[in-house]
Amino acid sequence: MIYATRRFEFSAAHRYWRSDWSAEENERVFGPCAYPYGHGHNYTLDVTITGDLDPRTGMVMNMTELKALVSEVLEEFDHKHLNEDTPYFCEQLPTTENIVRVLWRLIAARLPHTARLARLRLYETSDLWAEYDGAEETTFARMYAFSAAHRLHSPLLSDKENLAIYGKCNNPNGHGHTYTLEVTVAGPVDPETGMVIDLTAMDRTVRSVLDRLDYRHLDREIAAFATQPSTAENIVIYLWQELAPRFEGRLRHLKLWETRKNVFEYTGPGAALPHTRHNR
Ligand SMILES: [Zn+2]
Ligand SMILES: [Zn+2]
Repeated sequence: MIYATRRFEFSAAHRYWRSDWSAEENERVFGPCAYPYGHGHNYTLDVTITGDLDPRTGMVMNMTELKALVSEVLEEFDHKHLNEDTPYFCEQLPTTENIVRVLWRLIAARLPHTARLARLRLYETSDLWAEYDGAEETTFARMYAFSAAHRLHSPLLSDKENLAIYGKCNNPNGHGHTYTLEVTVAGPVDPETGMVIDLTAMDRTVRSVLDRLDYRHLDREIAAFATQPSTAENIVIYLWQELAPRFEGRLRHLKLWETRKNVFEYTGPGAALPHTRHNR
């Protein structure tokens, strides 16, 4: 299968507010997103299409044609207040999950029969996105940071071997990183909140796990790394083991940046990355 992606941007205001809930309930669930006049974002939309290659053009679809078609859809959203100026959010909240599903419907309907929409990923900010591929589940991800010291040193290796394998990372007093963790969950969108997961609860859950590592020396202060080296591989597996039971089957993917150049992903024991699993 061949996939082609084009990126789009639009800016819009929105507000999370259910008129059938009390002000207290709205504020409790939606926080500042419930403020009376709304706020806004610069959204980024990645549109991925798939289909057979046209042997004459060597393309699935002319990207210029895709650009025109998606831009026409986004005109209704760009520089608008999503609740007030579009017809799509009277019955549902303009959450990232709901917006991406509305966009799916509008874009899929306009594609020529030779191309098929494979997925849409909508970034509300650079560290929060929702993805939809036409299935029952919607995917939602958010990034978190924590800072920790560590030393790469394996009790199963001699001091000489440790130094040879880990080099600078074997420094006896340790070194450290600001780690970035992307947590991806998936599930049906709650019709009341328009969310796959209560964002406040998700933040609380992830922070409760990360705060134990934050500003600590992993090898010296975290029991899990007293007996195994604190490689990013072991850290991301440790985080999965801590987070998965708290997400009740919704955790899909963890992505850990040790530095901007070293990235480690884990999808749980035995599971392949989503794009491999769905063969897309
Ligand atoms: Zn917002
Ligand atoms: Zn390191």
